[in-house]
This record gives sequence, C-alpha cells and structure tokens, in this order.
Amino acid sequence: MSAAVREPQGPGEGVSAQGPDGAAEPHVARNYAPLEVTIARGEGAWVTDVEGKRYLDLLAAYSAVNFGHRHPALVAALEEQLGRVALTSRAFRSDRLEPFAAALAELCGKDLVLPMNTGAEAVETGIKVARAWGYRVKGVRPDAARIVVAHGNFHGRTTTIVGFSDDESARDDFGPFTPGFDAVPYGDAEAIAAAITDDTVAVLIEPIQGEGGVIIPPDGYLRRIREICTERNVLFVADEIQSGLGRVGETFACDREGVVPDLYLLGKALGGGILPVSAVVGNEDVLGVIRPGEHGSTFGGNPLAAAVGLRAVEMLASGEFQERAKALGEHLRAGLEAFLGHGVTAVRVAGLWAGVDIDPDRGTGREIAERLLDRGVLVKDTHGQTIRIAPPIVVRATELDWALEQLRLVLDR
Ligand SMILES: *Cc1c(COP(=O)(O)O)cnc(C)c1O
Repeated sequence: MSAAVREPQGPGEGVSAQGPDGAAEPHVARNYAPLEVTIARGEGAWVTDVEGKRYLDLLAAYSAVNFGHRHPALVAALEEQLGRVALTSRAFRSDRLEPFAAALAELCGKDLVLPMNTGAEAVETGIKVARAWGYRVKGVRPDAARIVVAHGNFHGRTTTIVGFSDDESARDDFGPFTPGFDAVPYGDAEAIAAAITDDTVAVLIEPIQGEGGVIIPPDGYLRRIREICTERNVLFVADEIQSGLGRVGETFACDREGVVPDLYLLGKALGGGILPVSAVVGNEDVLGVIRPGEHGSTFGGNPLAAAVGLRAVEMLASGEFQERAKALGEHLRAGLEAFLGHGVTAVRVAGLWAGVDIDPDRGTGREIAERLLDRGVLVKDTHGQTIRIAPPIVVRATELDWALEQLRLVLDR
C-alpha cells in the first residue's frame, strides 16, 4: 500500500501501486483499458498527471466536461448548495428542483422534466415513458410495444440497452435481453418508416452517433424522422446525451435541422462536468403519462445535482457556449481537413466535435492516441481506426492549433 503514496522516483514511477501482474490499478475491475496516464488535477481545458505533466484534454469525458474542468461558476453553485443541503430524496420537495426543471424545460421548449442521474437511466426512462404512452395514449396492445433504433447506436450499458446494441463486446455473455426493439441502418429515414408497425411507440435515435465515431447522418434525416413520427403517431426520442448542450454549436444537434423531438434525453454536460445529472424532457401529453410511484431514483433530482444543473442550464441559456463551439469548430474543421490524404482518410466535424479516421499505414487509433499522450494531448480512439476529438468548449484557438501540430507530428513519425 505504501507504494501508492511514495514520492515519484523517476520516469514511470509514482503512477500508483503496481499489482503483482504489473497493473497500475490492481483493485479496479478491468472494464476499461485506460491510456497510461493518471490524472490528479484539472482546470479548464487542461489536466495534470501525478508527476506534474500537463495535457490538453481533447476528450472532455465524452462531452460531460463541455464547460471545462471545475468551471468557477459551476464550482460556486456546488459549494453554495453543499452549505445548505445535499440530498433529500424525492419523498420530500427540495427548493432546488423546480427552479432547475423550469430552466431546463425552457431551454428545451418543453413542459416537463424527469430528473435522473446517468445517461443510461435517462434512456431507460425514455423507453418506459414511450411504452407507457403507447399503451395509455396510442392504444397499443398490452406488452406489444416496439421501439425502432439504429444500427451502430450507443445508448449506455444497462441490460436492456446493450440488448439492442450491435457492438459484440457490449452484448456478448450479457443476455438474455429485453425484447421490443427493431434496428435499422443509421441515416436511412425510409428504413425507419418501413420498420414502423401499429405496435411501434417510438423511434430512438442519436442525432449524431458519438461512440460510433461522430457519424453525422445525411442532411434532412432528422427532419424526415420528425415527419414520419408525426404522420405515424410515433414518438421521436432524441438521445442528445453526448451531442446536446452546446457541443455541436447549437443547444441540441436536432437544432442543426430545426427539428424538435417529442423527448430529449440529456446527461453528460448537464452535470457541468461535476456530478452525474440526467433528464428526460418532454411535453405534458407525453411525459405527463407517468404517475406517482411508477418510476423514480433515490438520487435523481437531488439538491446538489439540481443546483449544478441549473447553473449549467443558465450558462447555456446565454448562447455563448454554443457560439464559441461553432466558431472553434470551423477552426478545427479547417485544421483537420488539411490532414486528408496525409495520414487521415476521413474527417467528420459537427461544431467542436470531430471523428478522424486514421490511415492504417500510420497506426491504429489507439496507437495514435498513445503517441498524442506522449506529446501532452488526450484523445480517445473508437472502432479501431477512429479518434474522437471533443475539447472542452473553453479551449482556445491557439491551444487547438498546438494540438493539431502534435497530431501532425505523430502522423508523420
Ligand atoms: C454516454 C452516452 C450514454 C450513456 O450515458 P452514461 O452516463 O454513461 O450512462 C447514452 N447515450 C449516449 C449518446 C451517450 O453518449
């Protein structure tokens, strides 16, 4: 145990206790394979490891850190609330939940907010709401409700959700799975129309597939889904957990096509990069179907979460983060497109969010991420050859330029 608190002795030392098999975290279950860095501090777009080396964070905890690490306004909201009350449960009202819900509903242009904690819980909640709406409002036969989803989706890690994933490592050995989902190719709205039956209650889609590698659907896809759902009396449920709250240069990725879904599923940045805060947001005619006792969470909507979530929503309400993501995103796009044919085979950019496909000649996505790590840049690979870039929106253009120069150096190596 003493190895964990020993002073760093030299390169590679001081990371943490080494287990018998050489693992840096011998007591942590191995459901992740993190890059070789142990972060001790973070501020804005930067983090510092246990040896004092600084890294520019181009992952931002998968968009949970859109506002940067420890944004002073969010930390102030947290500390102020910590001095009052942290947790009440929903058995009683707290004076923080309604202000948070009112602000978030207004940001979304909706009536009601159902607060939860993690993204996966927001998705599960959306599924339950859609099914209840199907039986109680649409009149679907008991236990027959179906939901259309897309191939390549990522909606979280619960057993129901991984059951309609097509990522084998997410599914294998975790069955049996919840029935009631029909998967169609992503980006093909007519495939959705063809999959809808009288029993279909919802279309659940990521407006941009983040884990899939920042896959941007063809223009008009979301508009067409909106039309189909309206025509066929099916709910349009948009998982904006990663794409929403400023990342794409708009409040929501659905705004890129001027589309309003029936339910927004939100998470990640809703907690300001400080706490897990998620929510389902919709109108009375849909979200109003849930009655007392039918759904809940001990921590969902707790006063700390509501205080931080309210501040995050207030920061988005000004539009400044969306504007900044849009402007920096154009800068990032120009920088990345210059790599096309020079170690990069494809670039997909939406706001300050990019999927970059690495030419296999230059290494795998993981190898590029490891080389960038050595040069002080944190990114995450996905699906073998892709690296995903999602910096905190507080990043500066000059910092992006520096990171792009590091990418050039690791690609040219
Ligand atoms: C991250 C993510 C989730 C799951 O959120 P967790 O907080 O990890 O449970 C769901 N949907 C999308 C699109 C995500 O990116």
